[in-house]
Amino acid sequence: MDSPFDVVVVGGGLTGASCALALDRAGLAVALVEGGEPAPTNGRVDADWDSRIYAISPGSAAFLAELGVWSRLAPTRLAPVSAMHIRGDDGISELRFSAYEAGVAQLAWIVESGHLQHALWDALAQGGRVARLCPAQVTGLTLAPKEARLFLQDGRELSARLVVGADGARSRIRALAQLPFRDKDYHQLGVVANFACARPHGGIARQWFREDGILAWLPLPGNRISMVWSTPTQHGEALLGLPPDELAARVEQAGAGVLGRLEVITPAVGFPLHLIQVDRISASRVTLIGDAAHQVHPLAGQGVNLGFGDAQCLAQVLASHGARDCGDFLLLRRYERARKEDVIAMQAVTDGLKALFGHPNPLLGVLRNLGLSLTGRLGPIKQLLVRHALGGAG
Ligand SMILES: Cc1cc2nc3c(=O)[nH]c(=O)nc-3n(C[C@H](O)[C@H](O)[C@H](O)COP(=O)(O)OP(=O)(O)OC[C@H]3O[C@@H](n4cnc5c(N)ncnc54)[C@H](O)[C@@H]3O)c2cc1C
Repeated sequence: MDSPFDVVVVGGGLTGASCALALDRAGLAVALVEGGEPAPTNGRVDADWDSRIYAISPGSAAFLAELGVWSRLAPTRLAPVSAMHIRGDDGISELRFSAYEAGVAQLAWIVESGHLQHALWDALAQGGRVARLCPAQVTGLTLAPKEARLFLQDGRELSARLVVGADGARSRIRALAQLPFRDKDYHQLGVVANFACARPHGGIARQWFREDGILAWLPLPGNRISMVWSTPTQHGEALLGLPPDELAARVEQAGAGVLGRLEVITPAVGFPLHLIQVDRISASRVTLIGDAAHQVHPLAGQGVNLGFGDAQCLAQVLASHGARDCGDFLLLRRYERARKEDVIAMQAVTDGLKALFGHPNPLLGVLRNLGLSLTGRLGPIKQLLVRHALGGAG
């Protein structure tokens, strides 16, 4: 068996890798176990555009800057969001936010998933202290009063005071620790693709609440946008089956041609959408972060921001208790309580909006569009929404 660690993080996606870095900074002996191939650590500035992109909140960007990750991102692959325009399904109601009104330099940054992943693994490699076991699949876990033991597919065993499950929505750690969860299938696909656009996007993130789902166009550097269309599975599959020209025409039409002609630059990919709720994310010597702890509808673009918030909060709680046993259940409960409000609020907002705009009742249709227009005129509510959009980690 390998020597004992303070913490073993299982899952080296965005939240797991950031958590390993933050725990290392807190002075803990950390290992990171990732089932996939390691992300190459070159800058990827010449690579094709990644179809997975994230709207990173200023709070998350500040957290990544503290970890020495943000400075590793190529500025030419980052797009600031200067405003958001949200349209109701009557084609008239509109809600607008701007960075200028909110008194910030930008509302969010659009970053490619692969680029961010590489920057995180680059920081881990250069830091040199986090033991990286990759590729290595966790297949078993035992939890004893004083330690947790992890069993890897290749026969290795690891022991730690604490195991952090950052292994995504289908978390093996959550199952092995027998933490019950509820999984609601939205029967929707999140269809993502990137396009070149004829007119400049002006740094504006655009969203349409439509009868066939929620369509978002997010600005990429230059005259390019990234689309996320959350739509019923059957329609999503039909979009995925279209030849590139037809897909571009369909997306252009759905967005009322506001950016002129569109051309596909990254083929469309679809992700099934679920709401995952876990009532208790900690047990003795184990806790969860990221999608393992909560999965939300992507309409607010906040899933990974919630995950970075978890990573930052867990590291802060463990660091603030110095020499105390970092797997102590009371500490884990403190982390759990600290995150509960943000997670429940985001699940309620995204699930509620999805239900409100997905309902065919015409009276609800009038109410939701009226609500959107009124919110735009009511300063305090709008401020509250902007503050939420700027949140995430921190
Ligand atoms: C269409 C779409 C658009 C989205 N847009 C946004 C957005 O704009 N902004 C935003 O904040 N969020 C967005 N999200 C949400 C975001 O994608 C997720 O919240 C985020 O990727 C979760 O990261 P994670 O690290 O928790 O999990 P994952 O990315 O799932 O990573 C889990 C890792 O664990 C590893 N793993 C799994 N099992 C094991 C095992 N047994 N042993 C070892 N390793 C294992 C996997 O290989 C993987 O690397 C979007 C989601 C969708 C579907």
